[in-house]
Amino acid sequence: MMCAIHAARRGRRVAMLDHSQKIGRKILISGGGRCNFTNINAGPANYVSQNPHFAKSALSRFTPDDFIEMVERHRISYHEKKLGQLFCDGSAQNIVTMLVDECRKAQVECFLDCSILSVSKKENFHIKTNRGEFSSQSLVVATGGLSIPQIGATGFGYELAKQFDLKLVNTDPALDGFNLSKSDLSVWGELSGVSLDVNATSGDVTFRENILFTHNGLSGPASLQTSLYWQNGMPLVLDLLPDLDAYEFLLSVKKEGSKVDIKNVLATKLTKRFADKFAQVNNISGPINTLNEPQLKKLGDVLNSWKIFPSSTVGYKKAEVTRGGVDTNELSSKTMEAKKVSGLYFIGEVVDVTGWLGGYNFQWAWASGYAAGLVC
Ligand SMILES: Cc1cc2nc3c(=O)[nH]c(=O)nc-3n(C[C@H](O)[C@H](O)[C@H](O)COP(=O)(O)OP(=O)(O)OC[C@H]3O[C@@H](n4cnc5c(N)ncnc54)[C@H](O)[C@@H]3O)c2cc1C
Repeated sequence: MMCAIHAARRGRRVAMLDHSQKIGRKILISGGGRCNFTNINAGPANYVSQNPHFAKSALSRFTPDDFIEMVERHRISYHEKKLGQLFCDGSAQNIVTMLVDECRKAQVECFLDCSILSVSKKENFHIKTNRGEFSSQSLVVATGGLSIPQIGATGFGYELAKQFDLKLVNTDPALDGFNLSKSDLSVWGELSGVSLDVNATSGDVTFRENILFTHNGLSGPASLQTSLYWQNGMPLVLDLLPDLDAYEFLLSVKKEGSKVDIKNVLATKLTKRFADKFAQVNNISGPINTLNEPQLKKLGDVLNSWKIFPSSTVGYKKAEVTRGGVDTNELSSKTMEAKKVSGLYFIGEVVDVTGWLGGYNFQWAWASGYAAGLVC
């Protein structure tokens, strides 16, 4: 829609084809129904791509302020929830209505329930659909990723890229959290519902957010964020006391001569259910003044750097995004046009640019759509 608006404003005749019966379905379910429509801090560092520089140009030409200006012009009230994340006060429907309104004003023609049967190119593109044939100089592919197939996500964009001989970067579900192995679940599964404020590290990227234990593994924003960087076999490293040197803390309590049981000492900093389990799993019990320094050092090290090995991420049914996609080497970073197929553009999530949780993915969709909309 963002691309269609800007192309139509330039006087281009724009047809928007979508196989869904409803427009903007991902927007409608986003942000818990309130759409986290941008992040005021969005910049290239918040995105994962094989080419970390690719997103720079588009992001700098359509910024969070540009989208906020549109939201304010449509009198949509919003708030910052945390960490620069902007949400509608009311409903995500406001954002869809705003975009549909702008499409209408710019005279974009919208064809819903429109299945694409084939695409070919001679001089122009020819698109056969169940709603007739279309012919155009430009074709912009904005079919998103594979996440949430229940609401119409398909790999159509990837197939089309392959048809035109464009390379793809492997795709994986991301921003979906983790499954744990059966044996880990037999230990930690009973903590389902427990949430902890941690530093979570995957590879060399760390997020300070909450993790949430579930029946299947780990969820919560810290797990979602780190799942974007996680690869099979990697540990997830959790600092359970991110504001403390845990060993120094335990030692200072011991030196005070405290006779409090170690699990209750831990419970002053962590939830009781977690503290009990953590002490049990680490095979440590008894009043803290009876524990020796090597024991406290060992426990402190695990508290500040607890390694857990997920068995997988949760998968496309829950993933907020798809990591990977159309290889950015195939596209112009200024216009999103395929370098070897003139008039063919890829924008949004179908491209190998994937944002963090927190409004970054929409900002990429708006910015890349705008970049293509200025030229297609
Ligand atoms: C549950 C959930 C919550 C999210 N919350 C947020 C959030 O709050 N903030 C944020 O920044 N990001 C969020 N995201 C991510 C964000 O929704 C996507 O990154 C963004 O929608 C991508 O935009 P897009 O236009 O590239 O693709 P999409 O929004 O996925 O749109 C693709 C369109 O193409 C159509 N299509 C697909 N295949 C075909 C086909 N074969 N033929 C015809 N049409 C087709 C689809 O029907 C769809 O309308 C969330 C994602 C999910 C799943």
